[in-house]
Amino acid sequence: MISMRFHRSPSVAISVRPKRSPLQLPLVLATLCALGAGVAQAAPTVSRLTPPSELFSSGHAAPVIARFLPGQRFDLQATLRPDDAAKTITQARFSIDGKPVAAAVALRSCASGCVSGVPTNASIATIRAVSAAQAGVHTFEVQASQSDGQTVSASGNFEVIPLLAGGQKVKNIIIMLGDGMGAAQRTAARIVAGGYAQGKVVAPLAMDTFPVTGMVKTASLNSVVTDSAPGMTSYVSGNKNNNNEEGVFPDDTTDPFDNPRIEYLSEYLHRTQGKALGLVTTADVFDATPAGNAVHTSSRGAGTGIVDQFLDDRGLTGLTVLMGGGRKWFVPSTTPGSARGDKTDYAFSATDAHTSEIVKRWGASAGQLDKDRDLLADFQAAGFRYAADKTALDAIDASKTDRLLGLFAHSNMNVALDKIDGRRSKQRGVVGGRVVDDYGFPDQPMLDEMTSKALTVLERQKKGFVLMVEGASIDKQAHAMDTERWMLDTIEFDRAIKLAQAFAAQHGDTLVIVTADHECSGAALIGGSRVSDARLQELVREGGGTKLRDQVVGIYEQAGFPKYRIAADGYPETTDIDNRLLVGYGANVDRYEDYRTNEKPLQDSQQPFVKTAPLSAYPAGPMARDVDGKLLITGQVPGDAAAHTATDIPLSAFGPGAWVFTGLQDNTDVFFKLAQAANGVVLPAGLTYAPVKKK
Ligand SMILES: [Zn+2]
Repeated sequence: MISMRFHRSPSVAISVRPKRSPLQLPLVLATLCALGAGVAQAAPTVSRLTPPSELFSSGHAAPVIARFLPGQRFDLQATLRPDDAAKTITQARFSIDGKPVAAAVALRSCASGCVSGVPTNASIATIRAVSAAQAGVHTFEVQASQSDGQTVSASGNFEVIPLLAGGQKVKNIIIMLGDGMGAAQRTAARIVAGGYAQGKVVAPLAMDTFPVTGMVKTASLNSVVTDSAPGMTSYVSGNKNNNNEEGVFPDDTTDPFDNPRIEYLSEYLHRTQGKALGLVTTADVFDATPAGNAVHTSSRGAGTGIVDQFLDDRGLTGLTVLMGGGRKWFVPSTTPGSARGDKTDYAFSATDAHTSEIVKRWGASAGQLDKDRDLLADFQAAGFRYAADKTALDAIDASKTDRLLGLFAHSNMNVALDKIDGRRSKQRGVVGGRVVDDYGFPDQPMLDEMTSKALTVLERQKKGFVLMVEGASIDKQAHAMDTERWMLDTIEFDRAIKLAQAFAAQHGDTLVIVTADHECSGAALIGGSRVSDARLQELVREGGGTKLRDQVVGIYEQAGFPKYRIAADGYPETTDIDNRLLVGYGANVDRYEDYRTNEKPLQDSQQPFVKTAPLSAYPAGPMARDVDGKLLITGQVPGDAAAHTATDIPLSAFGPGAWVFTGLQDNTDVFFKLAQAANGVVLPAGLTYAPVKKK
């Protein structure tokens, strides 16, 4: 295996196993000297080769890191460093399996912006939107020369996973993504919403009735603990991304929108089968999970560019439905509360091949620094019906609507507990003063109501759709260790799952998966309270502290079966019941605990008016809440928010092709299983699956 060659003279070529580490260089030079190659002189080096591979990083051919579908597009890239500051990289070529890649290489000097540590005379060599058709492991190589004629080459590998022919083609794919929803979050929702009698579940969650469940390994490209960006993109690109990065491989430039791209499931199925894309979330729509289906950026925070790309690249993704919060990105920067700004936007230069090739070869929009863009108006001009609240959403006849935009809050929507509290207060004739009123959005839809509209709009798509529905604040409220708020958000999410399941049962050509991107907070159901809610409050008044814990926390048989009464709206009448369910957190920060439902959520830094009354009066963090109980629980992670964990998470599947999701799988495996289902549900020998009959 010849992966890196240092040409000292035409007669001497030393082959070494590829190494990214600069520590390898002295060894190479020593070898050169030992072989009598003359005066030790460096040569250009390849410090990054994309797609990422162990072949390049460690010299090992396995495991293969990057995997693609036949024809799935991705970018080839290399960071090339001359051996001294006076030289430059003059040429680069890429080949796959020894055959030159036909497209021209864009060579960009790092003088125009690379990360620290990469010299300004280094160059980034890129070919955009290549693909391979043949199944199997492929080796690719970059060869480069510097200004004095010295050359370097380096190799990596990737694999093409075949799509098998035959079987029923799944028309629609629904991905129900409970952000941060690990096994504990699912179990808690089941106990609260369904209840247990003598050890048996009274009413299972919808997701509990899916016929197939497997487990998912959630690591990202650069950590065992993923965040939501690579957590989502692994399912819909088949590849590991770095934390904070969406639909791209990492690179060495500072521009967050120029990274090597990977074609998403939405883009692949829109291009090859004409499928549409729907994105529904309770978060701000710029957030990592929705963006990680349609937007290519190495910065999940680059909101202006992210929301622009939703609209401007809808020709690539087939985006047809977009609902959630996030209006602050859609209004001109001059509008109070707007978050639009040039710092979070992008514009590809037409004269720089490095980025103009993204436009030419991917067919992507060049972007524009346009902080005063009225994106709401632009969406509507592109044929999207717009709903600003639940009343407006209800008024839209979805069965006659082709494209739908719903933005129900400035940033993240309120959580289920606060939305339900707002609705019940209104029913009681109480006007104002609730959390949803403080946020300024008293009329927000629930996730199942948004999902219902999305399904009706997408059902009109003759060639099918990919719909991603995110229960976003399961994660956000687990970060806040706000037990009752993430519990009710999991129930809200399950009500949306129930609709997706019913849609699939009715249509017979729809595959639904329910999963998470990662677990959040290390939540553990530690038991049940031994006391009534009244006694709990007494114990706080009596001084709290560890006495509170010792008298309240019931473990084993003392936990019993917490019994929540469910109201007609599907949510607990109250979460402050006697003998409530108790939760501990393994990835916690310092906090106070009083075991009662928090009246107000923690401040959400994403909200534009968070520092203005009334939101400014909300508790700033877990140390500013529940202080009366004087029960300090010291954290195991630093900071002011509980963290994601590396624990495997469950995945449940329903519909044709569901059976393949059993067992323990890598998050990237899910992508290939979904794509195979869209190409045809193929049964391995000995397995049978009876698809649900269309009614
Ligand atoms: Zn999170």
